Amino acid sequence: MSATERLYYQDSHLLEFDARVVDVSERDDGAIAVMLDRTAFYPTGGGQPNDTGTLGDARVVDCIDAEEQGVMHVVQGLVPQIGDAVHGKIDPLRRLDHLQQHTGQHILSAAFVKLFDAPTHSFRVMEHECEIDIALEDPTDEKIEKAVDLANQTIWQNLPIAIREVTAAEAAQLPLRREPAREGELRLIEITDFDLTPCGGTHAQGTGEVGVIAVRGWERAKGLTRIQFMAGWRVLSDYRKANRTATETAALFSSGRDETPALAAKLIDENKKLSRRVRELDEIACRVEAEEILSSLKSAVDYRPSDPLVATRVCNDRDADSLKHLALALIVHPNVIALLASRDSNTARLVFARSKDATGDMNALMRQACEMIDGRGGGKPESAQDGGKNTAALDDALQTAAQSLASE
Ligand SMILES: [Zn+2]
Repeated sequence: MSATERLYYQDSHLLEFDARVVDVSERDDGAIAVMLDRTAFYPTGGGQPNDTGTLGDARVVDCIDAEEQGVMHVVQGLVPQIGDAVHGKIDPLRRLDHLQQHTGQHILSAAFVKLFDAPTHSFRVMEHECEIDIALEDPTDEKIEKAVDLANQTIWQNLPIAIREVTAAEAAQLPLRREPAREGELRLIEITDFDLTPCGGTHAQGTGEVGVIAVRGWERAKGLTRIQFMAGWRVLSDYRKANRTATETAALFSSGRDETPALAAKLIDENKKLSRRVRELDEIACRVEAEEILSSLKSAVDYRPSDPLVATRVCNDRDADSLKHLALALIVHPNVIALLASRDSNTARLVFARSKDATGDMNALMRQACEMIDGRGGGKPESAQDGGKNTAALDDALQTAAQSLASE
């Protein structure tokens, strides 16, 4: 026999009660647990999280089902003593939320059984949404929304929800949605003409209290269909969030809220085409830039036509592709060595390349430069590239490469 009479079994709307402390103990983690002769606090179980609230001047932060021993209230603050009379208060919004999610699950699970003969294997109330794992074969959005529609129609009919206490023998004669998890006396939750299932949680008194059910998503998991759903005020809160996101996105397009998916798809498509065009134009620009660099090298006073033309340049915010384009545009000319670098806020890039008729080991130069910019690149004697994190050392790395080349 449990030391605690469970008031929540009979009345899920009882939010205040008086009780007497029968035991106070320290748990392994140092927390203090209070046992009462009666309680309206629901302890964690059956996929439903515990209630919170107050017990006299103490705060109830957790509630644990110790089965036969009773219900343990983990408290913080002024701990009552054995024998004290205490007044308990349940946090009403948390209770309402759990009641909506939990009763919503009964209704949704029953809808899947009625429509697709798909029983629920497990259920979880999480911080933002709930999950059920159901044996639904070949799930589709249409199938799932059909069950959601039936669940909501059932909610809006506001069917009464009753608690029935039966013996195991009586239960065996009844069309229960799922097998009872325990033996002996059973507590059944009956939604008139819709569902009958054994359960020890806190439920609404009528389906209307659940408000509404909405599915956020689904996936296949461990051979079952895992459905993320929410009920009651969570749907409203999620709607507000989703609506805000959609409205803010629409404002970026100066469009109506529901037109944004088509506009975003169009923008992405245009962006792909533009990127392609920019690449093409960049190659053309690199050819012009290469000619300018080489003609300026040739006009230097100490230029000798037999010497290789060493094009050294540090650019800002130039991506790896553009840097390669410039290198290629340079080395199509005879006897050219390109030592190019680019940096943005957190990346340093290097591209070293030479014309076929030029000499020098670009890979060896790159390995030396790599160390200076904390990179790990490499390549072949004709061309090599690298990316590193040390942007501050980029100019020095390029300088060192140019000096090494000159001393070869
Ligand atoms: Zn239940």
